[in-house]
Amino acid sequence: MDITVQEELAQIRARGLYRATRCVNGKQGPHVEMNGRDILMLCSNNYLGLADHPALIEASVRAAEQYGTSSGASRLVSGTMTLHELLEAEIAAFKDTESALIFNGGYVANTGIISALVGRGDVIFSDRLNHASIIDGALLSSARLIRYPHNDMRVLEELLIKHRGAGRALIVTDAVFSMDGDLAPLSELVALKKTHNAVLMVDDAHGSGVLGENGSGTAELLEVSDDVDILMGTFGKALGSFGAYAALSDELRELLINRARSFIFSTSLPPAVLGASLAALKIVRSAEGKRLRDALQSNADYFRFLLSQAGFNLPEGTTQIIPVLTDQAETTMRFSGMLLEEGIFAQGIRPPTVPAGACRLRCTVMATHSRQDLEWAADRIATVGKVLGVI
Ligand SMILES: *Cc1c(COP(=O)(O)O)cnc(C)c1O
Repeated sequence: MDITVQEELAQIRARGLYRATRCVNGKQGPHVEMNGRDILMLCSNNYLGLADHPALIEASVRAAEQYGTSSGASRLVSGTMTLHELLEAEIAAFKDTESALIFNGGYVANTGIISALVGRGDVIFSDRLNHASIIDGALLSSARLIRYPHNDMRVLEELLIKHRGAGRALIVTDAVFSMDGDLAPLSELVALKKTHNAVLMVDDAHGSGVLGENGSGTAELLEVSDDVDILMGTFGKALGSFGAYAALSDELRELLINRARSFIFSTSLPPAVLGASLAALKIVRSAEGKRLRDALQSNADYFRFLLSQAGFNLPEGTTQIIPVLTDQAETTMRFSGMLLEEGIFAQGIRPPTVPAGACRLRCTVMATHSRQDLEWAADRIATVGKVLGVI
């Protein structure tokens, strides 16, 4: 059936799935300005508060002054600059891997890496709650996509036995699930990948900079760094910058350089962005980084405590991603809208980002929120939650 754009938009609205952007004025911080009002930010992935850190801003400006504003080409043409190589060396050291390769963002890293690693005749085993960029990479690859129930290692093993063919097998998972905030059982995944001779790729967009004693991420926390084949992560979240990377072996790096189309056919990241990422890594690996991680964890614990005291249904978890389950899309969006009127920016999450009936307010805390911020927010969220019958 042929429908007009207007009709399509009307359908999206009618299903409660209409999306629109909201503009933030000024820098990203624990409080932001929206439409002239001070708003408490409760939905940013700027977990450590580095996006407005003076050291990142200064490094970014310096890099632009020294190296200019653009890389001018793809890495394989003339776009590999000193800063790309420096940042890759820093990432490999941070992740304790042989090598690293930078991508222009997490979305294009995942689509590029997955479609480079597998193709027709190969099989991808993907957690049902994996990020959209992983699904899109799988679709782009033409490999067979098998989705296993969330974190269900028993079913994954059955599927590995049943569908393991002649081609390559790739197991891929979020490390910290982006909408649920829980962790993947990485040790079990490593055991399965070894037994069934598969390649293991882990997307640590939300754990990198945050988890583990050194902030290296979920693989450090769960002590599996040596056994993950491709450890992907991003610079745009806790690291307060932009872009992404894969930490991996020299051999796999070489393969991706030759096969990953989002690496080959796209202008590389500009100096200002690379400068900010380098400064962010330096902070994350310092005593300041440790302090910020401790503050983030204690804020996450406290906010989870406040919300569960208020009677909200929170899935099990310990990270800075705190989903408040709200069931239906319409309630969720009213919840989010009413909170914004109160001065709190917390995004409602609906299908297709989460399954129908699993709508939620995805609250994220930051290292730079104060206790008062969190107490005030929990109080307002409880008040609105009662009005809407969520609690
Ligand atoms: C945000 C995110 C991405 C995409 O990263 P960008 O750098 O924002 O493109 C990929 N995977 C996961 C799990 C994410 O949360």
